[in-house]
Amino acid sequence: TYVVIDNCIACKYTDCVEVCPVDCFYEGENMLVIHPDECIDCGVCEPECPADAIRPDTEPEMEKWVEFNRKYSELW
Ligand code: SF4
Repeated sequence: TYVVIDNCIACKYTDCVEVCPVDCFYEGENMLVIHPDECIDCGVCEPECPADAIRPDTEPEMEKWVEFNRKYSELW
């Protein structure tokens, strides 16, 4: 899965949301999040993000961000 990290805070672009084929972006308190069970790992959103806020969960120390993305996306 891909996850949104805190680089997203205050970013005004929503290019990622527009390209996602499964609409798995949701609004958190002050940043977007990706629902980890809905993301199909296609990767098309990653290069669209001007804030470099979208990362694959295979990067180091992404566990807390996976949980964060899950928590806020499941509020909807
Ligand atoms: Fe959506 Fe693909 Fe990005 Fe996952 S990797 S959030 S499915 S665009």
